[in-house]
Amino acid sequence: MKLALIGFGQAGGKIVDKFVEYDRRTGSDIVRAAVAVNTAKADLMGLDNIPNDQRVLIGQSRVKGHGVGADNELGAEVAEEDIDEVQGAIDSIPVHEVDAFLVIAGLGGGTGSGGAPVLAKHLKRIYTEPVYGLGVLPGSDEGGIYTLNAARSFQTFVREVDNLMVFDNDAWRKTGESVSGGYDEINEEIVKRFGILFGAGEIDQGQEVAESVVDSSEIINTLAGGGVSTVGYASEEVEEAAGGGGLLSRLTGDKGDDDLDTAHTTNRITSLVRKAALGRLTLPCEIEGSERALLVMAGPPQHLNRKGIERGRKWLEEQTGSMEVRGGDYPVTGSGFVASVILLSGVTNVPRIKELQQVAIEAQENIDDIRQESQDNLDSLISDDEDELESLF
Ligand code: GDP
Repeated sequence: MKLALIGFGQAGGKIVDKFVEYDRRTGSDIVRAAVAVNTAKADLMGLDNIPNDQRVLIGQSRVKGHGVGADNELGAEVAEEDIDEVQGAIDSIPVHEVDAFLVIAGLGGGTGSGGAPVLAKHLKRIYTEPVYGLGVLPGSDEGGIYTLNAARSFQTFVREVDNLMVFDNDAWRKTGESVSGGYDEINEEIVKRFGILFGAGEIDQGQEVAESVVDSSEIINTLAGGGVSTVGYASEEVEEAAGGGGLLSRLTGDKGDDDLDTAHTTNRITSLVRKAALGRLTLPCEIEGSERALLVMAGPPQHLNRKGIERGRKWLEEQTGSMEVRGGDYPVTGSGFVASVILLSGVTNVPRIKELQQVAIEAQENIDDIRQESQDNLDSLISDDEDELESLF
């Protein structure tokens, strides 16, 4: 499906930038427009693939292009004040050619954390197209203020979008490595998962001889109903031509071998579906209780079959307990991989969010205590003990 991507803040801008690169590299054709919004000029200048006229600097009168310094209340204020400048960039998007907006931001900082929910609210008021969010949670090593920002932004962002897809940096941190060291790899992971998911709805029927191609309406319906979503992924290398004498057996009409191939393909698909659902999700959670799900099997058409997808879909129904599990193909001729992408929408059993909120509450209390304490300390420093001195005015 065709998306208008809007990256808010540094993380948002970098992820959108990578999306554009992915789109060009793979020919997925999902990025219809790409906009980056920031309060920090240097961050906008660091982008490679977003056109200059689609980079919007906001809050210049307030912060002079230097960013809001992890103050997400200021981020939200500035976004509200300068929403017309953001709208100016969006005005140049042919919105009738767009299936949905996707607003992307890191929720732990200031600009994206505060601004993304403001923009989502604005877009929903103006356009009839769905407005989705992609929110990135901070690593737990980033500290209290980032966690507090993320918890407050998460709450607000979910309310303002048609669906909030979440990526948790913490779950993707390599042991012994700080998250920031691995952002490039993490961003690749984000773009791959969401690129395959949204790319699936972009295949024209008839472009490939596929049995059941995923349509963009299936993605939209899976995301409809709101709430929070997570995405699973698993892949396996395959030989490009139908392996194991498949072609030969077809030519000679050797039915036995063909059946074996089919069984092998089916088994591979079902195993990839399990790996994707039970492996690392973008937001780790219990998959049981998910309201809706979509299974996308991507790869060379000869390695996809309806039976495998149908089995995988049934298995997902059992695991999630959902009555709304959709599934289909995303044929990619010439790819050396078969990949399974699973969108779980409307997840509610997410211990990570509860933990984030708990840490945020503690951080908030600590911050209040420290502020109070330093105010008291300052008062006792500047006033003399007996109160004998008088201020000038
Ligand atoms: P902003 O510019 O004020 O919106 O803040 P940033 O986007 O720089 O940072 C917000 C949060 O996003 C940080 O706390 C990190 O958790 C995360 N973050 C920053 N850069 C990246 C990135 O390139 N990739 C990912 N996945 N997360 C990032």
